[in-house]
Amino acid sequence: CGIVAYIGHRETLPILLKGLKRLEYRGYDSAGVALLNKDGLQVYKKKGKVAELEALLSTASGLSSRIGIGHTRWATHGEPNDENAHPHYSESESIAMIHNGIIENYDVLKTDLIHKGYHFQSETDSEVFLKFIEDIYKNNFCSLEEALRLAMHKVVGAYAVVLINREEPDTMIAARKGSPLVIGVGQGEEEYFLASDATPIIEYTDKVIYLEDFEIAVVKNGQLQIRNIENVASDPYIIRLEMEL
Ligand code: GLU
Repeated sequence: CGIVAYIGHRETLPILLKGLKRLEYRGYDSAGVALLNKDGLQVYKKKGKVAELEALLSTASGLSSRIGIGHTRWATHGEPNDENAHPHYSESESIAMIHNGIIENYDVLKTDLIHKGYHFQSETDSEVFLKFIEDIYKNNFCSLEEALRLAMHKVVGAYAVVLINREEPDTMIAARKGSPLVIGVGQGEEEYFLASDATPIIEYTDKVIYLEDFEIAVVKNGQLQIRNIENVASDPYIIRLEMEL
């Protein structure tokens, strides 16, 4: 339902929580965040309001981070509960992903992945998408963005996704088809805000890029690159938002 993500020089968790609250108007049943730092990948998720996620986080430590993803879920596959809330983990527990939308062919993909030995923590179509990407990543010895690109050729449905990977703590990867995704270009162009709509971004920057269907965005070491599903690069088209705060 709602996506907010950040990579840059600022403390990430407050940006994610504020963003999730700004997205509350969309309606949701659960909320979660994943943060990357020197201690690894940390995922916190909770059924209910963002306030309940905040209560859970208030007991946690070591949350300082410069990269993270946040999600508010509106359940389509699997009841609203803590396990089905996003972010979801890869089998390796090194990748976390948030997803808006619906994967229509998740059933066949899931059966195949179970045969290959994958386990599922949730009943969501989203976790199937992530583990499908992970399987390609592992078997092709390719980059995670390449695995995502290949997966997009096989996955049917609508999605906006954002992934982070413990093995590449300076990288954020996102893609969309049929669900909106906005990229805010922050200060010095070395920080980026990703969201399902501009509301969580406008207080930080008015420079945004609307990702197109079948585009993949990669932010690596402060640099944004956009490629399409055929691996053709395009120059990010930055527009100025004119919105009242
Ligand atoms: N289909 C996914 C799920 O049920 C994502 C729903 C959403 O867009 O929030 O978990």
